[in-house]
Formats: sequence, structure tokens, C-alpha cells
Amino acid sequence: MQGRWLEGRHALITGGGTGIGAACAAHLHAAGAKVSLLGRRLEPLEKVAAITEGKAISCDVTDRAAIEAAFNEARAAHGEIDYLIVNAGIADSAPFHKTAREDWDRVLAVNLTGAFDCAQAAIGDLLTGEDRRLIFIASVAGLRGTPYAAHYAASKHGLVGLMRSLAKEYARKSLTVNAICPGFVDTPMTDQSVARIQEKTGRSEEEGRAAIEALNANGRLVHPDAIATQVLTLCLPQSRDTNGAAIVIDGGSDA
Ligand code: NDP
Repeated sequence: MQGRWLEGRHALITGGGTGIGAACAAHLHAAGAKVSLLGRRLEPLEKVAAITEGKAISCDVTDRAAIEAAFNEARAAHGEIDYLIVNAGIADSAPFHKTAREDWDRVLAVNLTGAFDCAQAAIGDLLTGEDRRLIFIASVAGLRGTPYAAHYAASKHGLVGLMRSLAKEYARKSLTVNAICPGFVDTPMTDQSVARIQEKTGRSEEEGRAAIEALNANGRLVHPDAIATQVLTLCLPQSRDTNGAAIVIDGGSDA
């Protein structure tokens, strides 16, 4: 993607220190945006900030007061938020009958309630400027039933419902609200899934990774840059009529 289409605009990315969030930071920075990067661990955030001239802010998205403080810190550094990329998330897997109430609460708190709180913390900015964007990183698990990850799938279905509702509610404003729904992506989250398979089945790392790759129709993991390129595309002024979309990037499916 050539051109600094996003020159001077401010993108706030939750979970910006690793995986998809870090790829988004690189792509949006390359297009001219100023980036604010949020996550719990400061070290990975600072590494990404160093190569994207970004602002690293430690923030747990399960803490509403911390979100408000972090968003204010981001505004102090880079001005009003033009693009909010709600990307922070956690995955977990277990048979439903072995899923503890605490596991449900933990996953919902980050993936859904955290997204609600982040969207509310930015909505004032998003509704006032031109060509503003709210982008949720959901999952194909937000569109399909997902065995052994009912809590994760429920959180991502909730995220897609939140996105669709806000897209309609604000359709007449200069804000679009969309979600990207990836299949398995080559990130630390997938590394953790591989480790869980190894731990639970005794399979090797190679076998665990192959099992996950086989879940994408094309038999390989999606590259994080594929998600980041779509995020960048949604931020372009030319994408102003893409609203309420759940964009699947999973290597081929009928989702
Ligand atoms: P990563 O694990 O690399 O990224 C998740 C990020 O979220 C981390 O940077 C983490 O930082 C941050 N995070 C987690 N919990 C919190 C919290 N409570 N507060 C603030 N930040 C938090 O994996 P991905 O890049 O793959 O995941 C990004 C998003 O993509 C997630 O929402 C995930 O569900 C979604 N996704 C991923 C897929 C995959 O196959 N990898 C497939 C479909 C969707 P820290 O730990 O420092 O807080």
C-alpha cells in the first residue's frame, strides 16, 4: 500500500505490543498515522513504539478507570483519537462441561466487556471528527460455533453483535464500525494454542501446529500483515461506505 493517506491521524491500538496489534501499528505508522499502543506488559509495547514512533501505555482493559486514564494519556501525546482498533484479547479452550465460571468471566471481561469500555472511552472523539473508524478484531469464532471454546466464541459473537449495533446506530455519522474475523493467525496466541495441544495430547510442537494449520481451509496460518492491511484499508477515506461489515480473513471458507 503506497502513500501516507493517514498523515497526522491518531490510531489507538489495544494489544498493540504483539501479534496482530503490532502489525497494525507498523502498517498504520507507515501510512503516516501516530500510534498509541496499549497492553498490560510495557516491554513489548515499548519495542513496537520504538519502531513506530509510538506512545506505549500500560493498561489492563478489564479496568475501566485505567482505560479512561490511558486514553487521556494517548490524547495528550497525539490528540483526539481518529481510529480505535479494539484488538486486545485472550483465548482459552476446554470442553464446555469443564469450563469453570471463572474462565468464562475472564474471557468475557477482556474480549467483550473490555471492548465495550474501550469503545465508550473513545466514542466522544469518534463521533466528532471526519472519517473516524472503530474496528474490532473479532474472529471466525464470532460467526460460527466453536467446539471446546464456547466461552471464547460467545465473547467474539458478542463483539460482532456490538459492532453491528454500533454501525447501525451511528450510520449517519462520519464514523464507520467494522469487525475483522480472522481464522488462525501466526501470532503468540496461536503459539499458546499449540502449547495447549502439546500439553493435553502429548503431541509434538510440529504436530500441534499442523493440527491448527489444518483448521484453515488453505492449510496454513494467516500472516498478521493480512489483518493489518485490512485494518489500514478500513481506515482509508475511500472506505467510508464500508460499515457494519464482519470481514473474514481465514484462507477460504463459507463463513
Ligand atoms: P496476541 O496474544 O499476540 O495478542 C493479544 C494482545 O492482547 C497482547 O498484546 C496482550 O498484551 C493484549 N491483552 C491481553 N489481555 C489484555 C488485557 N487484559 N488488557 C490489555 N491488553 C491485553 O495474539 P493475537 O495478535 O493473535 O490476538 C489479537 C486479537 O486477535 C485477539 O483479540 C484475538 O482474539 C484475535 N484473533 C486471533 C486469532 C489467532 O489465530 N491468533 C484468530 C482470530 C482472532 P498483554 O498480555 O501485555 O496485556
